[in-house]
Amino acid sequence: MTTPNLGLVIPCFNEEEVLPETAARLISLLARMRSENLVSERSAIFFVDDGSRDNTWAVITELLNSHEEVNGIKLSRNRGHQEALLCGLMTAPGDMLISVDADLQDDLEVIPQMVRHYRNGCEIVYGVRNRRDTDTFFKRITAEGYYKLMAAMKVDIVFNHADYRLLSRRALEALSEYREVNLFLRGLVRLLGYRSAVVEYDRRERYAGESKYPLKKMLAFAWQGITSFSVAPLRLITTIGFIVSIISVGLAFWGLLTKIVFNQALPGWASTVVPMYFLGGIQLLSLGVIGEYIAKIYMESKGRPRFHIDMLDGGAFRERFETDSRRQPRQPFDQRVVEAE
Ligand code: UDP
Ligand code: MG
Repeated sequence: MTTPNLGLVIPCFNEEEVLPETAARLISLLARMRSENLVSERSAIFFVDDGSRDNTWAVITELLNSHEEVNGIKLSRNRGHQEALLCGLMTAPGDMLISVDADLQDDLEVIPQMVRHYRNGCEIVYGVRNRRDTDTFFKRITAEGYYKLMAAMKVDIVFNHADYRLLSRRALEALSEYREVNLFLRGLVRLLGYRSAVVEYDRRERYAGESKYPLKKMLAFAWQGITSFSVAPLRLITTIGFIVSIISVGLAFWGLLTKIVFNQALPGWASTVVPMYFLGGIQLLSLGVIGEYIAKIYMESKGRPRFHIDMLDGGAFRERFETDSRRQPRQPFDQRVVEAE
């Protein structure tokens, strides 16, 4: 295996304050990895300017004019973090791409570790925050609560993993088969499968500038994650309808009991309250049934790929193996590289 070619993808929205520092650190990291022969000479950095309103693009142009490995992609307008990131992942070349935020909150020092996992045959490497002491109490509680909520709704996501990750060319090609516009990348990447690994790091404070995810955007993103990946809210209607129906049956019995056993029933109570609950329950159940069909339409409309092939083998495929490099599983590059970790 030849030395793999790495691309670093960094979405930037109004990041003029941090970019020079981020670029300097990435450039020196890349130089180090190149000198260790961990990544190829052609490895590069890709800044995606997500329609910034400050001097971000000017900073990027200045960087790319003075550094050969720096490249820029400018979106025509602000589209949001997930879209900018996907644009970078679909546009940048490279045997593997690592996505990382511009603000230096994610420890860049684990990048060589991610590359070693790739070289050992992993297609996806997740960066996971093992500490969050630099986050505010509010951010920590809401973020961790959210991961738990998603898990409860059977959405497969990696706990405390955001968008700091390595994707191999094979994983990127699989990702490109997802056509949905309601993006929640950390959920999609989980659907790809393939051999993966996790690297842990300490989350830091933003190096400069302020968060581009104010509370409103954060809530919208959280809701996006739920509604793009789970039909649990629709199923909830059925559950509530069922519970209300049971209650109405209980109330009917209660009405009968007060009449027959205690003989002190309030005239008109049962005939008013019981049908009210009963009809409410039936209505909710009916909505739940409609919801089930909507859930099906929703899944169909996403047109997600149904599977990704990891390997093909056997006489009929051998010839294809030779011509189609994607279908050939990558062999561990050098076991010692990983064992040295
Ligand atoms: N970002 C972007 N477009 C947006 C908002 C954010 O490209 O509309 C980028 C931003 O420049 C940063 C990354 O997405 O590189 C994460 O944003 P931020 O660090 O502000 O989010 P936080 O860490 O506060 O959740
Ligand atoms: Mg940040």
